[in-house]
Amino acid sequence: MRTPVIIGNWKMNLAPSEAKALLRELRELDLDQSVEKGVCVPAIDLLIAEDILKDSDIKFGAQNMYFEESGAYTGEISPTMLNDIKADYVILGHSERREYFKEDDELINKKVLSALEHDIIPILCVGETLEERESNKEEEKVRNQLEKDLKDVKDSDIEKVIIAYEPIWAIGTGKTASSDDADCMCKFIRNYIKKVYGEDYSEKIRIQYGGSMKPKNVKELLAKENIDGGLIGGASLKASDFEQLINYKK
Ligand code: PGA
Repeated sequence: MRTPVIIGNWKMNLAPSEAKALLRELRELDLDQSVEKGVCVPAIDLLIAEDILKDSDIKFGAQNMYFEESGAYTGEISPTMLNDIKADYVILGHSERREYFKEDDELINKKVLSALEHDIIPILCVGETLEERESNKEEEKVRNQLEKDLKDVKDSDIEKVIIAYEPIWAIGTGKTASSDDADCMCKFIRNYIKKVYGEDYSEKIRIQYGGSMKPKNVKELLAKENIDGGLIGGASLKASDFEQLINYKK
């Protein structure tokens, strides 16, 4: 009953001229209409995505934003700017932002609340490091992130949020979590939502897996009960890979 959702996270790749070429290729693909799909592009490519994808069912979004609407915040983009170009999504709390740019849970929470207030779907990323997994602390880590990042999110808003479970040790490493381990953590996240928001919302919220998801493992991962989609880095940069990911049911 949950619509699968597969989103590309281009990260800091594809300058405008390259973005144009890939987006034009994506627009021409024959993609499964029963799968929600989108690309989260670098800020400089957002207007290009708006223009090229406007008559397609491929949605688009940003990889980050600040929580204020405007003002003296050099280098940032705001939710109202994203509204102006009708961006659908914003990735928040990606482990690379947490690690390299020192974003903490308090800031991520403000961004999640601001995205919801502005009708932008937040894709909230959570996940543990290898060290945390090896010391069996993955659930504690993820629970902690969920508690802080979703603080004050209202019942009526929670089902709009997409949560991406991304074990840090699997991102860009070619190491994928086994489908059972990934499902187990997505189930843990769903149970957390059930505890805080109730069963109805926990059945509606969509939980993605992210971390070296590729055409060769997408089918197995998405066959799992609690995995409703993928947040795709590397494999979203090539049209043929993206096509196979979206068309995983075929
Ligand atoms: P990857 O990245 O698919 O290249 O591992 C996923 C992500 O960081 O969102």
